[in-house]
Amino acid sequence: MKFSGFRVFAEALKGHTGWRPLWRDPDPKQSYDYVIVGGGGHGLATAYYLAKTFGRSRIAVLEKGWLGSGNVGRNTTIIRSNYLLAGNEPFYEFSMKLWEGLEQELNFNAMVSQRGIINLFHTDAQRDAFRRRGNAMILAGAGARLLGREELRATVPFLNFDNARFPIKGGLMQPRAGTARHDGVAWGYARGADRHGVDLIQNCEVTGFRIDRGRVRGLETSRGYIAADKIGVAVAGSSGRVMAMAGKRLPIESHVLQAFVTEGLKPTIPGVITFGAGHFYISQSDKGGLVFGGDIDGYNSYAQRGNLPVVEDVTEGGMALMPMIGRARLLRMWGGVVDMSMDGSPIIDRTHIDGLYFNGGWCYGGFKATPASGYAFAHLLATGSPHEISRAYRFDRFASGYVIDERGAGAQPNLH
Ligand SMILES: Cc1cc2nc3c(=O)[nH]c(=O)nc-3n(C[C@H](O)[C@H](O)[C@H](O)COP(=O)(O)OP(=O)(O)OC[C@H]3O[C@@H](n4cnc5c(N)ncnc54)[C@H](O)[C@@H]3O)c2cc1C
Repeated sequence: MKFSGFRVFAEALKGHTGWRPLWRDPDPKQSYDYVIVGGGGHGLATAYYLAKTFGRSRIAVLEKGWLGSGNVGRNTTIIRSNYLLAGNEPFYEFSMKLWEGLEQELNFNAMVSQRGIINLFHTDAQRDAFRRRGNAMILAGAGARLLGREELRATVPFLNFDNARFPIKGGLMQPRAGTARHDGVAWGYARGADRHGVDLIQNCEVTGFRIDRGRVRGLETSRGYIAADKIGVAVAGSSGRVMAMAGKRLPIESHVLQAFVTEGLKPTIPGVITFGAGHFYISQSDKGGLVFGGDIDGYNSYAQRGNLPVVEDVTEGGMALMPMIGRARLLRMWGGVVDMSMDGSPIIDRTHIDGLYFNGGWCYGGFKATPASGYAFAHLLATGSPHEISRAYRFDRFASGYVIDERGAGAQPNLH
């Protein structure tokens, strides 16, 4: 079933009786060449590129809940490639380029909207740091603009420019950044993978690995044993738990990150805005809700629910940045479990077990990475060697000391 404007029109005339489910609902087979654990954005994108780009077959995605029930359907939808470090910037820019052609590639409306992101700065030192980052972005082809205070005031006059404690001095803008509909991305990749023959198996929890003489042979699941030649794990916040079943300890902590949405309002926020003096960021959805978030919860957890101190912290940040937000009514909030790595950067690598590969450590920035992560992980699974854009995302950087510490915050997830 191909989507088009003509198709929507024709279906309207037929009372919408011709639409079909976006993917099949197959039972698991006894064996596959490739099994991806985790039906989030990264797992689905990996399966899609494995089949479509690398021409592989006999692929399954195993998801313990429903597709998109994890962080891919819980995030605040921001996509951007405004990084500084060499290990990161080319990867995220590759991802941004894939976003730019994604809807045509998938024939699916993922509501990719390049409405721009502005990172505010509040001190002269911060301006210098942002100028440096902007230059790195320009060199990488990502594009960047440094906005002065008055130029910024003309675009977003409602911000608290003269806050005595955090005066706004300007902002670094990436015009190509923006938002995409988070679960639409999961559905688009799922449909694309299904069309290329991938079995998407929901309600199928992986409960163990069968490993024989250093090689992975298959998976124990809630729907029986499934043999596999190669297994790729992409389970985000559950990374620690799943990899522990294979005897692998990760340099990752799981924390809850919360998101908040207000009632629908008239168009107010032109793009994405991040506060540079506290952890708060905001955009506005196409339905009009203000979508915002901030810090991770202060303790490790696998529970997909938030806590009140962070609610207070995030809303305080919002009030300091744009006091008018105090008039908006909060409609909903939720939590997702994020996989915080010890330098804030991800891992896409093989493991000490033959045939077992890992993708994780996305912290709270993995949504924007979805296309590139899927592409690079599929490359690793298909060819056995890392794609050049993800070469830096190896486990051994934590042993060798070559960490990719974008924020210079060390091994403190709450500061990344
Ligand atoms: C509140 C919030 C806001 C965020 N905002 C942004 C943002 O604005 N921009 C951005 O770039 N990133 C953001 N992120 C981060 C981003 O959502 C994640 O980094 C990314 O979605 C993680 O990859 P994923 O989509 O594959 O994860 P998930 O969607 O979590 O997929 C992992 C899947 O694995 C499944 N699974 C777990 N254990 C098992 C098992 N044993 N067997 C089978 N399946 C299993 C889970 O059910 C889940 O569906 C945010 C995250 C949160 C929580």
